[in-house]
Amino acid sequence: MFGLFGKSKKEFQARVQPSGKSLEVQAGDNLLKAGLASGLNWPHDCRVGSCGTCKCRLVEGKVKELSDFAYVLDGDELNNGMILACQSQLKSDIVVEVELGTGDAEAAGVSTTEGVLSATRMLTHDIMELTITIDHPLRVKGGHYKAGQYADITFPGISRPRSYSFAAAPEDDDRNELTFFIRKVPNGELTTWLFEEDRTGSPVTVSGPYGSFWLREGEGPVVCIAGGSGMSSIKALLEHAANQGCTRDTVYLFGARTQADLYCLDAMSSLENQWNSGSKLRFIPVLSDEPADSDWQGLRGMVTEHIPGQLSDWASAQAYLCGPPPMIDAAIESLKQQGVNNSEIHFDKFLDASSMPNGRQ
Ligand SMILES: Cc1cc2nc3c(=O)[nH]c(=O)nc-3n(C[C@H](O)[C@H](O)[C@H](O)COP(=O)(O)OP(=O)(O)OC[C@H]3O[C@@H](n4cnc5c(N)ncnc54)[C@H](O)[C@@H]3O)c2cc1C
Repeated sequence: MFGLFGKSKKEFQARVQPSGKSLEVQAGDNLLKAGLASGLNWPHDCRVGSCGTCKCRLVEGKVKELSDFAYVLDGDELNNGMILACQSQLKSDIVVEVELGTGDAEAAGVSTTEGVLSATRMLTHDIMELTITIDHPLRVKGGHYKAGQYADITFPGISRPRSYSFAAAPEDDDRNELTFFIRKVPNGELTTWLFEEDRTGSPVTVSGPYGSFWLREGEGPVVCIAGGSGMSSIKALLEHAANQGCTRDTVYLFGARTQADLYCLDAMSSLENQWNSGSKLRFIPVLSDEPADSDWQGLRGMVTEHIPGQLSDWASAQAYLCGPPPMIDAAIESLKQQGVNNSEIHFDKFLDASSMPNGRQ
């Protein structure tokens, strides 16, 4: 079927101003996905219609909203024609305005590779380490993924891709092996399938890297806060910093329920030893449901209760948060109260279908 201009109407064209770049958007693809696939450094984070980072102004044409933009955009933005690129499918050729990133544009491209689930290992009773051996390195023009970023993983028979953060610094991951930490989600489609029997040998498609969660330049102290499988991206980020000889004072608060939910303790202790001797890395686990009469000598309570007092200089601090959305929301509030600059609070929310409008991820 050909449209008015002799072009298959299975795809539309998006012109991106002020860069003047154009891209084809296939039916079924969203605008952000198409933009990243064509190498545009389009600002984005969650890609699931929750963070608003990919917003842009629709100047001409029509889009279909995959989820209600009003969940994220305010009235002024909506009146001004703002849309979410990750939640927009094209109903016509369009023109949009968005300030594309500079400097790192090439590295913003994503690549896709086939692979196989080559090994699994239980880290706790409900968190599994996955090793995926890929056919081609997930190498984008200009480099590897950045520590803190994530990939989309698709297993045959599972309805759609799921996002998982790289659990090792890129220089530590073998070029053809990627590791991820995955927590079992009650009634979750992919995780139920993964945990119910040994799936090693299954074919898998990996695409990425995505997201803009990585350690920013700076001199001030760093506070990291994670819970559950959020250990993955913080571990990768800290490993990379240590490999670069980071000299910033750093505290990492990790929230878990009980001692049975702690993992990567040896990796954290090696990192503390590797950290530059002129500064300090402190890994501090906090348990919320550990029995009162157990032998646990460490901190208890919600991880966010222990933020105050960890640093003396909050004004120059950067914060990196990763894990369940409620923990991140509570941590952001506490960090703001300590005086951390809003723009220095970086986070990756592990959203799933239950946290999204219409159950979409
Ligand atoms: C950027 C990013 C990075 C992530 N990184 C990680 C990571 O490193 N490790 C990790 O463990 N997870 C990570 N996640 C979460 C991960 O992508 C999956 O969402 C998670 O593993 C659940 O997948 P699932 O298929 O098992 O569950 P799903 O099938 O997606 O379901 C999740 C939950 O939603 C419920 N649900 C399903 N449909 C609906 C509906 N219509 N309405 C209401 N509830 C519904 C299900 O019952 C279940 O409880 C990340 C998410 C994002 C966005």
